Amino acid sequence: MIRFAVIADVQYGNLDTLGERTYRESLPKFLAAAGEIAAENVLFTLQLGDASQSDWENHLGIKELFEVAEKAGIKWKHVLGNHDFLVADEKKPQLYTDFGLEKPGYYDFVVDDPDDDSNVWRFVVLNGNEISLYAAETPEEKKKAEEERNRWKLPNGGLSADWNGAVSPRQLQWLESRLELATKQNEKALVCSHFPLFANSGAGTGSQDDGVYFFDHGSSTWNGKQILDVIDKYPCVKGYLAGHLHEGSYGVRKNVAHVTFKGIVQTVPNCYAFVNLTSDSIIVEGRAAQASYEFRFK
Ligand SMILES: [Zn+2]
Repeated sequence: MIRFAVIADVQYGNLDTLGERTYRESLPKFLAAAGEIAAENVLFTLQLGDASQSDWENHLGIKELFEVAEKAGIKWKHVLGNHDFLVADEKKPQLYTDFGLEKPGYYDFVVDDPDDDSNVWRFVVLNGNEISLYAAETPEEKKKAEEERNRWKLPNGGLSADWNGAVSPRQLQWLESRLELATKQNEKALVCSHFPLFANSGAGTGSQDDGVYFFDHGSSTWNGKQILDVIDKYPCVKGYLAGHLHEGSYGVRKNVAHVTFKGIVQTVPNCYAFVNLTSDSIIVEGRAAQASYEFRFK
């Protein structure tokens, strides 16, 4: 069995509470979750983005905690979120480095099951902030992001939120190439991004039985439909893991489990999860307030 841990939306900040977001509380919650995760000796821990709320000082604060956790044995796989970029433009290149990433911030890796040679998974980690108003570092990039935002109007004609972004045609092509490779090599694939795409249940889904596409509601990647179109072409994809919407959600669409993990910043008492991947299932073991899910795929 392949087993890893997940945390999402720590959004640490030395800031006063805003609504349900208790920024300072994220620190002890993060440490408690990290302590439990370190004790389980999992392969790695997926950090789904928005590690800090904003400002370089807060970024440095959470970065230090990531390092403390590393010393306790946690191996991080970081995903970039929109809040991570709420720092001065000149600091943005350093963000990638601090998360152990190279620009443009998307990457993949393969994990073998130590007990089952046929159970091999490719993790494809997207950077949904690639073209966005907040990750742009120059006036030219900001202009390009504005043009991109205008291209992807909501079904009601409105603009998508400026705290989301788009993936470039190049990133979509790269995603396709990774899934092509996974298919050829008989691997199963998990796509990971800060931004969720779909849910049948959970926050914001109302009573719509056919589910919610978050990009139609302005709460996801502007061109999320293009990501789904690529995923739909590759049956090797069994799961899509995201954060961003702190209430969390779950959905199954075309034999793919869409799991949105709850955000630490506003979840009481805490939330994190362990995920087990077998040759026919994705099992999410939620801890504290995080829900558990069991998905058997075809
Ligand atoms: Zn976010």
